Amino acid sequence: MSGITSKALIPFFGVPLDNLVGKEHTGTVLRIERNSIHDGKGLRVVLFLKGCSLSCKWCSTPESQQAAVEKGYGRIMSVDEVVADICKDEIFFFHSGGGVTISGGECLLQPDFVADVLEECRKRGIDAAIETSLSAPWQSVKKILPFLNVIYVDLKHPDGKIHKKLVGVDNIHILANLRKLDQSDLPFKIHLRIPLIPGINDEDDALLKTLSIGATLNKLVEIELLPYHRLGVGTYAKLGRVYELEDVVAPSRDYIIERAEFLREQGMNVHIKVGSGYF
Ligand code: SF4
Repeated sequence: MSGITSKALIPFFGVPLDNLVGKEHTGTVLRIERNSIHDGKGLRVVLFLKGCSLSCKWCSTPESQQAAVEKGYGRIMSVDEVVADICKDEIFFFHSGGGVTISGGECLLQPDFVADVLEECRKRGIDAAIETSLSAPWQSVKKILPFLNVIYVDLKHPDGKIHKKLVGVDNIHILANLRKLDQSDLPFKIHLRIPLIPGINDEDDALLKTLSIGATLNKLVEIELLPYHRLGVGTYAKLGRVYELEDVVAPSRDYIIERAEFLREQGMNVHIKVGSGYF
């Protein structure tokens, strides 16, 4: 552990990088996106890492799944390089209250690298969030918790057997990690994200079961629906892979709203995230 505790984050922008970096770990980075406004508060830099423990049939970033650099997707970066890149936007973090969000693939598969990056961000007062499926050893989750303010947890399906059929692994371990997260004394918040895949996990029963999981969480802020889209389908051919959901059609705006209303009627705070926006 780094010794950093759950004390309030004190902004400390503009610290010379020479004073802060020099960590030994490297990570495999898929890409770094800037100016995101919907993966945490304020303006965000989103760091997408390579490697995933799941293989969701609807995955829109199949180029993120392999841990290694693959067909030009991804590159090895040092902690120094990544922190320096994130810090280019410090002025925007300062004015917007933004920060960094680390996503994947599954960012928890590179826990030492992520912890080093987030520790440097924490020292500089940069707000930090991750997006994760929680399909990772608890020790990896625990390692980075002290640096986080928000965790976005993607829950693919509440039923273990169906979960395994859809993404390759059961959800027992994921749900156990979620319970441990919620029991943490650290003050981070949890947002649950549900990928809304027509005909696969969008029926009343599956949504209600996911809702009942969310209802048990003390740290839960809201549920976000991530409607299915087909923007990554072309990448499968580039990777020489087959897209299995060829027949699934992206849901209409009216249908998405109806599903969100159904969840709101159960008393849950629900947002719909589409591309770079919410409604
Ligand atoms: S968890 Fe995300 S990155 Fe991994 S396979 Fe599923 S959709 Fe793709």
